Amino acid sequence: MSESHKFILMLEEVNKSFEGFKAISNLTLYMDEGELRVIIGPNGAGKSSMLDLITGRTKPDSGKIEFGRDTDLTKLNEAKINQLGISRKFQTPSVYVDHTVFENIWLSLQGSRSVWSTLFSRVTPERRDRIYEVLKIIALDGKADWKAGALSHGQKQWLEIGMLLAQNPKLLLVDEPAAGMTDEETHKTGELLLGLEGKHSIIVIEHDMTFVRQIARKVTVLHQGTVLCEGKVDDIQNNERVREVYLGRKKKN
Ligand code: ADP
Ligand code: MG
Repeated sequence: MSESHKFILMLEEVNKSFEGFKAISNLTLYMDEGELRVIIGPNGAGKSSMLDLITGRTKPDSGKIEFGRDTDLTKLNEAKINQLGISRKFQTPSVYVDHTVFENIWLSLQGSRSVWSTLFSRVTPERRDRIYEVLKIIALDGKADWKAGALSHGQKQWLEIGMLLAQNPKLLLVDEPAAGMTDEETHKTGELLLGLEGKHSIIVIEHDMTFVRQIARKVTVLHQGTVLCEGKVDDIQNNERVREVYLGRKKKN
């Protein structure tokens, strides 16, 4: 790698065991700034564990995890890592169901200020513009006054993505966004994520191969806590080792 090349994220030879079980094993992965990377792999491959390590939820037993030029994430706690601009979307949506869609984004923009003090303060015109900008990205600008609890599962997922976007993350980590969505919602989620490419660096973990094909640029396949292969989606789908892992096919001889 040339000296001038800048990765937004770098994992090198990362290992993590849980009571003797190797969830992550010599995991090495580099991500470019602005990249949209899809990570696939069978259940238990270590995909969510990898996000736990990046976000500081767990610490590696060994190996390097660096963000930007030279920030060592293994030395920082979850809150600090979040402050650097790394945001994670968990599988299940967590929005304020009793507040409106608008208020949800507003609350997120305010960061650590309390719900009470936010909702009893005034929205400045700049804030309102920013909130609507985010609402447009997640296609919920027409539902600004809806209670979040009244949204469909897919819309709640978009709202939560919007809440993360409000904080303008450098790196967005999205774990199985299409789970439980209708085909139409899944497709719209793909368009939403594609629209973020270049503006944020994004890791998307996903199972749904139709969805993966829709958004895929470079795909990384994880298996047993390590990278099995990496490349274009067609190459991945034609890769014999990937087929073995997914189809559970035994090697000949
Ligand atoms: P994936 O997201 O690819 O389905 P996970 O990363 O959730 O896989 O899990 C990989 C393996 O690591 C699983 O066998 C899981 O049980 C184990 N694991 C993950 N996190 C923990 C933890 N905090 N404690 C114990 N075992 C864990
Ligand atoms: Mg998982």
